[in-house]
Amino acid sequence: MSRAFNFSAGPAALPEPVLRQVQEELLEWKGERASVMEVSHRGQAFIDCAAEAERDLRELMGVPADYAVLFMQGGATTLSALLPMNLASPERTADYVLTGHWGEKALENAKPLLRTNVAASSRESSYRSIPARDQWRLTPGAAYVHYTSNETIHGVEFPGVPDVGDVPLVADFSSNLLSRPVDVSRFGVIYGGAQKNLGPSGLVIVIVRKDLLGKHGRDLPPIFEMQNQARNDSMFNTPATFSWYVVGLVLKWLKAQGGAAAMAVQNRNKAELLYGAIDGSGGYYRNDVDPSCRSWMNVPFVLPDAALDKPFLKEAEATGLLGLKGHRALGGMRASIYNAMPVAGVQALTTFMADFAKRNG
Ligand SMILES: *Cc1c(COP(=O)(O)O)cnc(C)c1O
Repeated sequence: MSRAFNFSAGPAALPEPVLRQVQEELLEWKGERASVMEVSHRGQAFIDCAAEAERDLRELMGVPADYAVLFMQGGATTLSALLPMNLASPERTADYVLTGHWGEKALENAKPLLRTNVAASSRESSYRSIPARDQWRLTPGAAYVHYTSNETIHGVEFPGVPDVGDVPLVADFSSNLLSRPVDVSRFGVIYGGAQKNLGPSGLVIVIVRKDLLGKHGRDLPPIFEMQNQARNDSMFNTPATFSWYVVGLVLKWLKAQGGAAAMAVQNRNKAELLYGAIDGSGGYYRNDVDPSCRSWMNVPFVLPDAALDKPFLKEAEATGLLGLKGHRALGGMRASIYNAMPVAGVQALTTFMADFAKRNG
């Protein structure tokens, strides 16, 4: 075995016990005499598996009964276009708060579908902070306010839920779902792709207050009508069955770890360890995000000279530390330390970083 610590931003590391269980039951699943990938989503075995994943997610996140939990396809990006279509008519206005790359992308996908207003943006400061709440220019009577709970590329995470009054809050949680407890009742919609914190790509989880659906007044193709997915247990068409099954296993693993509260303790410890190593390197490594909103999930950092990037990555790989190359938009490094990354992985990374700095100082 030469499995290494995988710091990839997404698709990202999965808990090893989950991968082992997948391996064990890949050929014959639950007495079906076939793989989970090979059986009908309408069969009882898969229906039970799907319902159990939904129950576990509801339990882990404390989802109130008036919210639908959907397991849809197309990733978070598709949802960033489906949501404006499904939440409001074209003449209404939606507010967008931009704290990084993914907020910008969501805004671009909304623009052709309704009126948009950038209520706040930290673009001017290169997305290193979250605009102060009292600076947001919210639209009275807006259809919703959209923000990105954790900006995966810029490493900026909301430490809490912003207060926007009675306007439904729509949040992209792709890269921090279940990384810490969150009060679902504060939201109109929470959505997130599975491939960062919860499973393989191909699946996007949507938690939506049921009364928000079906009021857009648009003539939508039935497949884009989210109410059809809500009314058909996310099986209006064939769902991403394999991804759904794996997410179900990850949710069981999360429950065994103690759920979101236990994850929060571990994630905070991992983040403090890594930021501590960066800040304590005497300026060798740098992360310029405002400490009040540094992400617990994605930690971008730069070396003193970009010429050191290549040797850093090469030696890190040889040491068993993978996926540290930063996003091409920012350069430098990025360590993604999602739920499945053990503390030992972050310890191995900080040890390597200190050693590299000493040898290349
Ligand atoms: C990865 C990511 C996305 C895009 O996800 P896709 O599955 O590629 O559509 C959107 N938002 C955030 C915050 C992400 O981390």
